[in-house]
Amino acid sequence: MNWRRTLIFFTFWSVLAAAIQYKFQTATGWILLSIGSGVWMTWRSRQSARVARWSLNPQTDPPTDIGPWEDVVASLYRYTRSQSDALNDMEENNTAIMSAAQALPLGAVTLNKDFQIRWFNAAAEKQLHLQIDQDIGRNLLNLLRSPEFVSYARQTDWSEPVILKTSQSGQTQSIMMQLVPYSRDLLLLLMRDLTQIEKLETTRRDFVANVSHEMRTPLTVLAGFLETLLDAPPGAISDTQRQTYLTMMHEQAQRMQALVTDLLTLSDLETSPSAERVAINMAALIGAARQQIEALSGGRHVFAWHIDSELNLLGHEAEISSAFSNLLTNAVRYTPDGGRITVTWQREPNGRARYSVTDTGIGIASEHVPRLSERFYRVDRGRSRELGGTGLGLAITKHVAMRHDAQLDVKSKLGQGSTFSLLFDAPRVACIA
Ligand code: ADP
Repeated sequence: MNWRRTLIFFTFWSVLAAAIQYKFQTATGWILLSIGSGVWMTWRSRQSARVARWSLNPQTDPPTDIGPWEDVVASLYRYTRSQSDALNDMEENNTAIMSAAQALPLGAVTLNKDFQIRWFNAAAEKQLHLQIDQDIGRNLLNLLRSPEFVSYARQTDWSEPVILKTSQSGQTQSIMMQLVPYSRDLLLLLMRDLTQIEKLETTRRDFVANVSHEMRTPLTVLAGFLETLLDAPPGAISDTQRQTYLTMMHEQAQRMQALVTDLLTLSDLETSPSAERVAINMAALIGAARQQIEALSGGRHVFAWHIDSELNLLGHEAEISSAFSNLLTNAVRYTPDGGRITVTWQREPNGRARYSVTDTGIGIASEHVPRLSERFYRVDRGRSRELGGTGLGLAITKHVAMRHDAQLDVKSKLGQGSTFSLLFDAPRVACIA
């Protein structure tokens, strides 16, 4: 106990001073007492100064040798440490919550009751094109300038969201927004970008409409011929006519069959993102495709084959065969008689492998090229149908390419011909030693 030590020290010092005073009857005792008191006061004020210095930054270790201050400082230090630990915990929690809010895939904006922006996360920044240094404190209603949102914001019931169409640099976005009151007088605006979902929905609707349309035409023709054959009185249709009708019906049935086969192939390809890695004997695969395509051409085209028979692929044989054949079939389909078709299967200097089919056919105008691999996209619908095309060949080829880490590349000039290439990444390429 410091106060006890101080008391003992003082009692001892005073008794000593009084004894000296009593013994020698001079001022020595009083002088000694004054010096002792002076030393003691200096010592104490130095301790106080140390404590005062520490109190400016009480999180640091407390000073030692501070006499009677030790107990006070120790409990003050303990208190400060516990407060500082609690503050650190709160800061950590706060950071974790803010990071989670930032990482939300939903856009979130906090607003005061006058719709002034207080905070927003990264998704909101992207969806509403907000800027942190400019838009904090701005009124959201002025920023959005959407009458629909203004009237939604003015109503009191926000239990249902509102969908806004916004346009930024020519791109239309569809954003679902909902206001949620929280705390006292504060609002949370939650946003979800529906653009991609709506696009997918449109694609799905178009796809169903396209399939129905593609099926309806051959079905109408088939039904028409069947009705004619069934309704015609005996002997009204000659054998030659009957034969013609049956041939045409057969053609339409084949068309439907080709369509269904391509649709099933597409749906199979969509089930998994990557194809297996089995070594394919490419010389054999291309050899088989060559036989088929030359038979299809029936001598109407001149073929040139530049095949590296030692270059193999790791992939799914049936898929690769279907992609390679699609490109060959198209070359034959869209190259008039007498045209030249060049097929190449070679290794590139960078270790990739290239399969390309070049024809001297009708070619494709540049505006169509980016859309060729869309389902049912055809440059000339009538011509494609006439030639037995389903409009799905390049969509299938593109899918096969993606599943084999390859790119489909198209180069074409209207009236001069086209080159369709599949470029396989090096890890998919295998050479026979
Ligand atoms: P299709 O069954 O109609 O051939 P694809 O998906 O294979 O369907 O091809 C889409 C369209 O691309 C074709 O309708 C055709 O207009 C065009 N096309 C494909 N290959 C060629 C080619 N070699 N030359 C010219 N046009 C082509």
